[in-house]
Amino acid sequence: MADDKEMPDAVVDGGHDQVTGHIISTTIGGKNGEPKQTISYMAERVVGTGSFGIVFQAKCLETGETVAIKKVLQDRRYKNRELQLMRVMDHPNVVCLKHCFFSTTSKDELFLNLVMEYVPESLYRVLKHYSSANQRMPLVYVKLYMYQIFRGLAYIHNVAGVCHRDLKPQNLLVDPLTHQVKICDFGSAKQLVKGEANISYICSRFYRAPELIFGATEYTTSIDIWSAGCVLAELLLGQPLFPGENAVDQLVEIIKVLGTPTREEIRCMNPHYTDFRFPQIKAHPWHKIFHKRMPPEAIDFASRLLQYSPSLRCTALEACAHPFFDELREPNARLPNGRPFPPLFNFKQEVAGASPELVNKLIPDHIKRQLGLSFLNQSGT
Ligand code: ADP
Ligand code: MG
Repeated sequence: MADDKEMPDAVVDGGHDQVTGHIISTTIGGKNGEPKQTISYMAERVVGTGSFGIVFQAKCLETGETVAIKKVLQDRRYKNRELQLMRVMDHPNVVCLKHCFFSTTSKDELFLNLVMEYVPESLYRVLKHYSSANQRMPLVYVKLYMYQIFRGLAYIHNVAGVCHRDLKPQNLLVDPLTHQVKICDFGSAKQLVKGEANISYICSRFYRAPELIFGATEYTTSIDIWSAGCVLAELLLGQPLFPGENAVDQLVEIIKVLGTPTREEIRCMNPHYTDFRFPQIKAHPWHKIFHKRMPPEAIDFASRLLQYSPSLRCTALEACAHPFFDELREPNARLPNGRPFPPLFNFKQEVAGASPELVNKLIPDHIKRQLGLSFLNQSGT
């Protein structure tokens, strides 16, 4: 399987430029004496379009498996960063790249095709479903989705050393049967290197951390934590917390909730902005943002994520351990339909380097007992 993820070398003639209803064939293997294998995809329907290209749902004719193919225009001069990053990702809460290949069109344009596992829904659509029915998302789903987002982020940040830089409901895929969440769209993602500058004009407006609005170029992965905080607030409120109408208005929306940043907070976001003057607005108390019956741990959690000073925001792994998620760690916790939760505690490298207290909090006692038992069973055989 590892070979599938290698840099594509075969180029497929995409034939007609229309996407749906035609078959694309490509080969895998053929290296190190392995047999070559043909894979054919029947393009079925377009599920996403953007300035980059399109995403379509397709069926693999050999295996019957449904996949999503993201087809992006490839600049022949550069390596595709999205592909490089996706190739190293391997986590239950990150969308999985299965295979990739190049294709050309009649205009001799080169396209990169990223073949991914297909996930039927996005958090954006799930949210729309609730708001159009004038309902809030049940708290257990808010917990389940947010927990998995943070677990995926802990992996992306700590293991892959990557910042996603465009976290938002459209880039969070949801399986409506298992309620498993997968972070997708690594089109803006980047490995951040301390001391090196990065562009600040990334991330979609409602989810942009204030330091990006201040034009900071030395930000950290805590920009993703801010975005995740905005997603949490949106799931709790049923609408975006900071619905800025343009880049400047975005800051106004944030100030309306958090109040005018102090000098020190501005310095933490972007040292070049300290002389900037703002109208003095007092913070709106967090408990008044949400409805009266909102559990205090939900309010506490939102306030820890959405802070001006990037270094004060908790890390993704600390977020997973927050009491807001304690319900998920209870021994008999289940989905509302009685089925088990998707896997939540099969941690691997993302807990490496975490304090023993944090790891202890992240793995519930009933799971520890199970692990202990299976360990005993294994050593007994
Ligand atoms: P863009 O760079 O245009 O935002 P994305 O990678 O976010 O591209 O894909 C666009 C849309 O296509 C997503 O918002 C989602 O609705 C859909 N999509 C992307 N990947 C998948 C997938 N693996 N399975 C199902 N739908 C997907
Ligand atoms: Mg996207």
